Amino acid sequence: MSINGGSGCFGRGLAVALFLLYGATGFGAPPAQPAHGDAAAQASGMDHDHDAMDMDHDHEAMEMGEADHEHAHGAHAHGVPAAPVVWSLVLASLAIAGGLIWSARAALRRNAPAGPTAGTNILDLPVIGMALRSRRFLAFLIVPTMAVFLLIVLAGLRGEQDTGNPAILLTWILWWPAVIFTFFLVGRVWCSFCPFGYLGDVAQKIFSLRLRVPGILKNMWWRLGLFLALTWLTTLWALDRWPLGTAWLGLGLTLGAIALAVVFEKRTFCRYVCPVGGVFGLYSMTAPLRLAVKDPSVCRGACSGKDCFEKCAWFQFPPAMERGAECSLCLDCVRACPKDNIALRTQASGADLASFQSHSKSLDEASAVAAVLGVALLQTAVMLTGWRGWEAKLGNWLHLAPGPTLYTIVYIGVGAILPLLLLGLFSYTSQAQEEAGSGLGRALRTYAYCFLPLGLALHAAHNFHHLFGEGAAIWPGLKKALAQYTGWTSLAPPQVAAASVAPNLLFALQCATLMAGLYLTYRVAVARVRRNGPRPERAFRAVLPILLFAGAYTVMNVFMLAAPMAHRH
Ligand code: SF4
Ligand code: SF4
Repeated sequence: MSINGGSGCFGRGLAVALFLLYGATGFGAPPAQPAHGDAAAQASGMDHDHDAMDMDHDHEAMEMGEADHEHAHGAHAHGVPAAPVVWSLVLASLAIAGGLIWSARAALRRNAPAGPTAGTNILDLPVIGMALRSRRFLAFLIVPTMAVFLLIVLAGLRGEQDTGNPAILLTWILWWPAVIFTFFLVGRVWCSFCPFGYLGDVAQKIFSLRLRVPGILKNMWWRLGLFLALTWLTTLWALDRWPLGTAWLGLGLTLGAIALAVVFEKRTFCRYVCPVGGVFGLYSMTAPLRLAVKDPSVCRGACSGKDCFEKCAWFQFPPAMERGAECSLCLDCVRACPKDNIALRTQASGADLASFQSHSKSLDEASAVAAVLGVALLQTAVMLTGWRGWEAKLGNWLHLAPGPTLYTIVYIGVGAILPLLLLGLFSYTSQAQEEAGSGLGRALRTYAYCFLPLGLALHAAHNFHHLFGEGAAIWPGLKKALAQYTGWTSLAPPQVAAASVAPNLLFALQCATLMAGLYLTYRVAVARVRRNGPRPERAFRAVLPILLFAGAYTVMNVFMLAAPMAHRH
């Protein structure tokens, strides 16, 4: 079947899918009715009645899984955008997807632009450069982070088990959404002052066997497996609404970092095991800045000590770095280099994604990209108030009651297997246009990176819902908790609802994020197709499957984010 013929079928399929989604998400219905709680507050997007919502959190049942699974899907929903706004943005997203396809055709007819020019070296900027070069800068970041981490653990272990607990507010409404943006904006810089890694460093200074890292750890599979397990448990146990579970999650990751630090050299946990930094580290390939040596010939000739490698806790050798995904931007190598030969340069967003070519034959990173797309989709879907109905229908079909078993089947299918099959199909179709195209594995290793911005965009847009929809509750919640812990009742906030961002504005912001992801996918796909060199008349046919998938995934997500969604708080 030709690609052109396929695109006609695809268009009709997309139209049917959109129609079904329209019905499923209830856009044609009256404005969303809250799943639980106060209807008036819901309509204004301001329902923060913790007692009504969360005090029924039954932890004994949670440990058994069933009741908690119910609870995970039972939190209240907030306002939804108005139908005209939704339809305007759906049409806009369709227009942008079509426009990008048209633009790709034009771009691939032109000669490839000249290679990227070296960006600005941030370390040369006055004041900022000086601050970044100073080791004290990291300490400046680590001290407050450690204080917040301690507060999360103590509040989670000892505080009231409701969603007003600082462990929930700070971990799941502030940190989790915010950390995703840091990977996109400044790469893996969070990892340089993450409390888990820092406590591992402290333990390693006290005692460590400093064994070499075994080869079996040096791949993405461990990180991917832990990431899937973590996200699976987060939904199944409602970790994002369970302060005690959140505290133990933080303690567990810290213990893991410490255990590996006392056995192995350097930051083995951060580099090869951490489920958060590992998979999200791929997000940092979209970052607009990266470490790079100024003059490679200096490294080859005039430098005998290679101090940059000695000092790097992440096993990186800056002259050989091909991307920033495994670099925490701690800048220890910059401080160690005797030739001042390392720069922190700006670059185009997604430059690493466009240029990186894996030397490994493993499908670990392609599988991680697929999992990001699947898990972001599923974790958004389970927070929709319509999820219970879909789950019940699927359960009827499979003869399974809604609960952990059914969710696990859905999780493995939708979160891991289906996206990998789809990415394989669309990557293979793209690669088929190359002269030397061969093998599904090579296709996935070449083109899977194109799809990463889509997963990142949905992940970020979903978390906009929590950060901007619930973020206003953080400060009053912290003051309330402080009043309880200290007995200073004057700190307790008055009983007024915290304002949230208006649903229309929030939705527009989410759609803009999805469009940005689509645009980045377009740029990465065009660059990769160009580099793999199908003949000009075939280049457009190579990029088309990727852009069709990207457009469909994005429009589907626009629909999904317009539906009523539960809050964590
Ligand atoms: S220490 Fe500096 S000059 Fe030497 S290899 Fe590393 S980056 Fe190059
Ligand atoms: S390469 Fe440099 S900045 Fe990156 S992790 Fe290693 S020491 Fe830190």
